Amino acid sequence: MDSLVQGYELFRAEVFPQQRPLFEKLATGQQPEALFLTCSDSRVVPDMILQTRPGDLFICRNAGNIVPPYGEMLGGVSATIEYAVCVLKVPHIIICGHSDCGAMKAVADGSHLDGMPNVAAWLRYTDSAKQLVEYSLPLHATPHERLRAMIRANVVQQLGHLRTHPSVAARLQRGEIVLHGWNYDIAHGTLEAFDATQGRFVVLERQRIPKALEWLPLEL
Ligand SMILES: [Zn+2]
Repeated sequence: MDSLVQGYELFRAEVFPQQRPLFEKLATGQQPEALFLTCSDSRVVPDMILQTRPGDLFICRNAGNIVPPYGEMLGGVSATIEYAVCVLKVPHIIICGHSDCGAMKAVADGSHLDGMPNVAAWLRYTDSAKQLVEYSLPLHATPHERLRAMIRANVVQQLGHLRTHPSVAARLQRGEIVLHGWNYDIAHGTLEAFDATQGRFVVLERQRIPKALEWLPLEL
């Protein structure tokens, strides 16, 4: 705990004074560039990976970067999405998984989650990704390959759930929001992004930022 309070003291003594104008500007409002939905894992630090500042990202975190489908569970994730889309009008939503994810390991291994009924219920939102992986990977796939596939398939499944949220569906129809599915590699510090046109994850670079959904508005 000492190190946490020491960090706060450093923030008060050096960081805050240096960035006072930014904090003063942010004191009365925010206009983040994206809703960033990622795992609670301590090794995933969005502001470090993207070099963003306070006010840039509206962040929602939970075990396994999961988005329950609309109506299934009226909880914090649904409310956060609704607020980001309807009030803050974020133009982008990024779902970001990561390597060595404990939640995805539990799913991929078929771990018994006795004594953790909430974790078990929560991870059921990854069931179709799990089944997709089981049906697609060769039987001799290694645990590492299985986990890697699970992490990616989960990001894609959660993107699907995102579209069931009415606020998101409406903005997609009007071309006001773009969905992104990313995966962060902790050991290498790299991001890959799901490219819906290719059906696979590709290197993320500014010259070509892949969309996780090729959306054609419904003709009405
Ligand atoms: Zn994780």
